[in-house]
Amino acid sequence: MINAPRGTNDILPPQSFKWNYIESKAKYIFDLYNYEEIRTPIFEYTELFQRGIGEETDIVEKEMYTFEDKSNRSITLRPEGTASVVRSFLENKIYGKAQPTKYYYIGPMFRYERPQSGRYRQFNQLGIEVFGSQDPRVDAEVIAVGMHYMDILGLEDLSLYINSIGCPKCRPKYLKKLKDYLNNNRDKLCEDCKRRINKNPLRVLDCKNESCQQVVDGAPKIIDYLCEECEVHFDNLKENLQNINIDFIIDPGLVRGLDYYTKTAFEVKYEGLGAQDTIFGGGRYDRLAEEIGKRYVPGIGFALGIERLLLTLKQQGIEIPIDKSVDIYLTTIGEKAEIASFKLLEEFRRKGIKAEIDYMNRSVGGQMKSADRMNATYTVIIGENELENKRATVRNMKSGEEQEIDIDNLVNSIEKMI
Ligand code: ATP
Ligand code: MG
Repeated sequence: MINAPRGTNDILPPQSFKWNYIESKAKYIFDLYNYEEIRTPIFEYTELFQRGIGEETDIVEKEMYTFEDKSNRSITLRPEGTASVVRSFLENKIYGKAQPTKYYYIGPMFRYERPQSGRYRQFNQLGIEVFGSQDPRVDAEVIAVGMHYMDILGLEDLSLYINSIGCPKCRPKYLKKLKDYLNNNRDKLCEDCKRRINKNPLRVLDCKNESCQQVVDGAPKIIDYLCEECEVHFDNLKENLQNINIDFIIDPGLVRGLDYYTKTAFEVKYEGLGAQDTIFGGGRYDRLAEEIGKRYVPGIGFALGIERLLLTLKQQGIEIPIDKSVDIYLTTIGEKAEIASFKLLEEFRRKGIKAEIDYMNRSVGGQMKSADRMNATYTVIIGENELENKRATVRNMKSGEEQEIDIDNLVNSIEKMI
């Protein structure tokens, strides 16, 4: 027996119904806000993620599925969506069209992490990206898309945390203060963080190690060092969120794990999830396109973990409607009836009527049980007698009411009844 790789999941029915439901609601919301779908490859050249995510990040340092293909090129299974979407935007010269560009994506991501609840090696994200505008209302819109989605799924008690992490103008001054502080507390930091102090001190703020977190609690906060432009942008975001009744908590310690973020950073959490409690997170990345394609294109987006969303729905006791039913179940008795019914079966389906039949040689009683199990609206009973008289018995499974219908008109008659 060969099992699935560690950290991967099979999604079987009825769970797959839930996935479809979640994705269709997401698509409804994305369309409502006028976002269009983009599909990028599942793998990219490794360099894209090294540059686009940043060498000093957990993802690039530890979590990527990287391998050489048969012509010795380094390939990586995508660990997240943004770098690919930006690459595609640049490669296809979408910047030449009217802006902003608003995209969404849904699909699997791959990270080599220790599997646990809410953390897998192949997991699924849905996310949005907006390119071309620096308007803080866009930041508010991106957050609104996510919060509206949470609302239509019926989720409650979620917390939105926001922060601003500055820009290349104001961040260096802050980073200097931060480095000094971290160097003064060096002995309390983990080995990774010690290494990161000088290379990428912002990453230390994101470390999950407890003693590092204690140091981080006392660290200087970037929102105290914002330049005029970043401060105005952040104030504007807050006003716009208030204006559309979205509650938020300012978390001065919030930095995203990825290097390319500027200004707005945000996360939405459900505390009931335990250690892996972030459902979605995102922020502005005005410097990413330059990093990847030497072109200035402001951008902002979020990514949401679908598995964590499903865990949250389950924890909050929200039932996802599963529509498992057929319109017609054809019950047959005898070989002639089987042949005639198989023809009818296809005719039903060609009319868009969901029909099913027995392929397991069940008795009439067994076929009726199948019809029940499949939640059939009607069963049609066809035996030798019915064939001879050209009349089939149609039973309404809810009321138990039966009627005889001319077999030649069966499909049309039932079409009218449904
Ligand atoms: P975490 O701090 O939990 O590792 P992250 O900062 O690495 O999260 P992002 O890169 O921002 O996460 O990804 C966005 C979302 O994708 C997360 O908020 C989470 O819902 C989901 N996610 C990230 N990694 C995993 C994983 N390994 N398994 C399942 N979901 C994940
Ligand atoms: Mg992570």
